[in-house]
Amino acid sequence: MYTIKIFSAISVLLALSTSILNVEAQLKGKYPPVDKPPPADATWTALVDQTKLIKAPIRTPGICNPVDTYCVWSCTNCLRPESDIQYCPDKNDWALTYDDGPSVNSLTILDALNARGIKATFFVIGSRVFENPDILKKIVDSGHQIGSHTWSHTPLTSQTTEQIIAEVKWTEQAIKEAVNLTPKWFRPPQGDFDDRVRGILTQLGYKIAIWDLDTFDWHS
Ligand SMILES: [Zn+2]
Repeated sequence: MYTIKIFSAISVLLALSTSILNVEAQLKGKYPPVDKPPPADATWTALVDQTKLIKAPIRTPGICNPVDTYCVWSCTNCLRPESDIQYCPDKNDWALTYDDGPSVNSLTILDALNARGIKATFFVIGSRVFENPDILKKIVDSGHQIGSHTWSHTPLTSQTTEQIIAEVKWTEQAIKEAVNLTPKWFRPPQGDFDDRVRGILTQLGYKIAIWDLDTFDWHS
């Protein structure tokens, strides 16, 4: 009984110190709750001239219209070359990209890339940047490129224009605080974007990078 009590006490202490360590590792700035669409901000909303946006209706993720009026990539692989890139411009070139970090998994990838002298692009989620800024710093310090992958990983065409702007800007703020960089490349979660989303991202200074080969490692 006595032994069990001591063990319990040690467990509590360990749990406490782990949670304190995690909190210390987080960004210091004030951010919205993680993994939820963040609140809109009037100052950020004003950055986008909504009269110039194509008025594609808000979609239900996974449901595609028979006619793809608004160039929804997740439905038809429709591309607009002025804002979207899927392939390297030069034949036989290829690029590695990793989504959804920074997390402890990023460190394994980082070790493998660095051991082979390969540079990659990491499309990071704002909520993960808030939690793991030191891992993002390691990625940047190793010379890899950072892109944005939203704050909450919610499909963008299912959100209002104000919400999409908030997804972009909260992530931008977290990346800026963590590594003092402002990304120029954006990867929409699940490849879900249309002409309205393109217009918003273009006005906020982003190009969209998608992919042609998926390893489906996120599936298991
Ligand atoms: Zn993702």
